[in-house]
Amino acid sequence: MTDQTKYVYDLNEGDASLKSLLGGKGANLAEMNRIGVPVPDAFTVTTQACVAAMNNNGEWPAGLREQVEAALDRLEERTGKVLGSTENPLLVSIRSGAVFSMPGMMDTVLNLGISDDTVGAVAALADGNERFAWDCYRRFIQMYGEVVEGVDQYVFEDALTEAKEAKGVANDTDLNAEDLKALTKKFKELADEALGGHWTTDPREQLMRAINAVFLSWNNPRAEVYRKANGISRDLGTAVNVQQMVFGNRGETSATGVCFSRNPSTGAKELYGEFLTNAQGEDVVAGIRTPRNLAEMEDVLPEAFHELLATMDKLELHNKDLQDMEFTIEDRKLYMLQTRNGKRTAAAAVKSAVDMVDEGLITKEEALLRINPSDLDALLHPAIDPNFKATAIVKGLPASPGAAVGALSFNADDAAERGGKGESVILVRYETTPDDIHGVMVSQGVLTAHGGMTSHAAVVARGMGITCVAGAPGIKIDPKGETVTIGDKTYGTGDTLTLNGTTGEVFEGAAPLVPPSINEDFEQVGAWADEYRRLGVRANAENFEDASKARELGAEGIGLARTEHMFMAADRLPSVRKMILATNEEERAAALEEILPLQQADFEEIFSAMKGLPVTVRLLDPPLHEFLPNIVDQSLLVQKLELTGGSEEDLARERTLLAQVKSLHEQNPMLGTRGCRLAMLYPSIPEMQARAIIRAALAVQEREGETAGIEIMVPLVVIKKELEVQRDIVVKAVEDEFEKAGKRLDYTVGTMIEIPRAALTANEIAEAADFFSFGTNDLTQTGIGISRDDAEAGFLGHYVDAEVMSKNPFESLDQSGVGQLVEMGVEKGRSTKPGLKTGVCGEHGGDPESVEFFHRAGLDYVSCSPFRVPIARLAAARAALREQ
Ligand code: PEP
Ligand code: MG
Repeated sequence: MTDQTKYVYDLNEGDASLKSLLGGKGANLAEMNRIGVPVPDAFTVTTQACVAAMNNNGEWPAGLREQVEAALDRLEERTGKVLGSTENPLLVSIRSGAVFSMPGMMDTVLNLGISDDTVGAVAALADGNERFAWDCYRRFIQMYGEVVEGVDQYVFEDALTEAKEAKGVANDTDLNAEDLKALTKKFKELADEALGGHWTTDPREQLMRAINAVFLSWNNPRAEVYRKANGISRDLGTAVNVQQMVFGNRGETSATGVCFSRNPSTGAKELYGEFLTNAQGEDVVAGIRTPRNLAEMEDVLPEAFHELLATMDKLELHNKDLQDMEFTIEDRKLYMLQTRNGKRTAAAAVKSAVDMVDEGLITKEEALLRINPSDLDALLHPAIDPNFKATAIVKGLPASPGAAVGALSFNADDAAERGGKGESVILVRYETTPDDIHGVMVSQGVLTAHGGMTSHAAVVARGMGITCVAGAPGIKIDPKGETVTIGDKTYGTGDTLTLNGTTGEVFEGAAPLVPPSINEDFEQVGAWADEYRRLGVRANAENFEDASKARELGAEGIGLARTEHMFMAADRLPSVRKMILATNEEERAAALEEILPLQQADFEEIFSAMKGLPVTVRLLDPPLHEFLPNIVDQSLLVQKLELTGGSEEDLARERTLLAQVKSLHEQNPMLGTRGCRLAMLYPSIPEMQARAIIRAALAVQEREGETAGIEIMVPLVVIKKELEVQRDIVVKAVEDEFEKAGKRLDYTVGTMIEIPRAALTANEIAEAADFFSFGTNDLTQTGIGISRDDAEAGFLGHYVDAEVMSKNPFESLDQSGVGQLVEMGVEKGRSTKPGLKTGVCGEHGGDPESVEFFHRAGLDYVSCSPFRVPIARLAAARAALREQ
């Protein structure tokens, strides 16, 4: 049976809608061709063909080879050129093209079709330019050898360096036709040697092997790392584009470059790009030669320059998004080789989206759907203090904005290891290649000696929000000795540098950083998000500073004020211990009397910062032992006193404390006497807290004319009776305070739902609750049965790496499992009390995907850390828009 699947599309058969089949690059080439942008002729092998081969141990599906042969015949017919012809040879490029752009992660072969037989004709067709022809040939052997035949890169690089040294020149461009001819011969010998004489010379066979190599590169390690970091599925496969070569290296009237329709760092609508005359594309993106600013092209190749400007506008208008384009000019004629929606910094994403709405290019809704909520994080990150006056030790290109302070690392493995352990590192490289990605990902910043604004290092770092200074001139890196010399000073792994990715400056030591500044465009996006979202967004905060920050960032209240942090402050711990260790109620009451005014002062701060907005104060949660000395430390202290003959009085006191610590010790404190269980044993604690809350609220009301909305929350409830008892204690204390003050305020009493039993019996618990707040941290811990304290350091990392779990469930909600408990809790709660207010206050409240889930589950609000508030606002708006 023959396979009827269509695996190959000619350029004029495709369009933008076929992206999943033709990959981003293939679909966009077809689309450009369709709208009249000059594109070299091509055909595309589909992602489906790659997937079929992957699923069959690399064996091509039946019919694929024949389809490629036929497409090549048609390409030859259309171009009037023939692969391998000694008169009019066709040369092609073979490039990967995944559905989601993965810049530089997969392989490319250029100039295929050049050989001993055709090199003469290539020169003749290029007006007798022998140098050009031999340059193409040696590049082909190098690329084909490395990519398709797996010859080690250094084999060719060493030979090239030797050739340059023998001639006493620094640049590839200083080698003439004769040099390149000799070099090509050398390359062929080296390749033959490396392959034991198995070099294939038949160009059609080379083409098949090159296509196969691109298929295989879908699974190379750097592509895998990139896919994982960007959540791209391995099952998608890559398409392969086979395209007629056009040459930017045919002399000074030829050029190649990359350009963006807007500045991808800032979003400003201005000329942005780089080019090199007499060069091929990989020279620009690989950062081997430092390219020239695109503006200079107007002087060198004015006609092509103006055509390029017009084409950039046309493509941006057509795609309604910031475009990242590659072009080649062959003997003054412009060709576009690629266009895609450009990777951009968060600042650029926000600015360009807002500008495009103003320009009428897109709608507000489109703008909101275009900005990735997680990216906003980068805008909220620190920058170098503007008052910092040191002079930079070197200034490179501002490749990815932000500020980074870290100790130096000279290779990606080391950076990955140290960065992975939480150390702040700056990765210093001559130029980074996509192989470095695992190190780049965990670095604070990247500093390179070579490469331009559009080199892979820059593109990758920008996409990840990692600060990058590229092409720092004159710095000397010794990767073996692990040092970098900048000016006359040498720095090693123990030294710290600061990078300013916004200006390109590099400073010695750690520069002071200032908190991020939020601009009008950012505010605009937030305001638009607020128009569309249904979910409320609150913050988790427990002091004036955090609460004020949260409010500034758009929080509509506090969804969780954890009171235990207030108990752990050094000045309070003695009273707290006195309370815990009290042997009778009077002693306990006395200790609580000491704590009450301190708590009240804390609450006053928060209520003042959140005037007019609701504040959920959670009653004491953690296990008692957290307030006491560690059992081992205390035993050692007693032993020490015994050995050194401490005073009887000291010894007695420490022994008593040890006995008490032992008696309160639990094997499994996370499942022990915490949350309301503690308050059930010691009702005077919630009573004191309720009084402190009310006194604070009344004081702020009195002093400032307005106070926050009071919501008192009982933690870790699993049985309705617990909440009834606690509610009773709280209500009595609150009413007593009102009576004493002769004033009252509105208040509610609710509970956290953070243990599966609470979700399962939410209909019962709702009878005693005015509101629910889902504590998805504990709900994840107890729902999945994984310790929130240990799992991440242990097996969980392995589970995520090995894709047993797709994500860390403490970061992004386990929607199909724990998510059901949330849905059930909402539904059951509302079956008892229709309209019961529900929120979430676990870490997931700031995770965009989880926020979308909470929207769908019908919650009223999410609560997250202050800096995640803008992210949650945008995620909530997107959830609402997607629903429409
Ligand atoms: C939770 O469990 O999700 C929660 C918010 O409480 P905590 O993190 O304080 O245990
Ligand atoms: Mg909890």
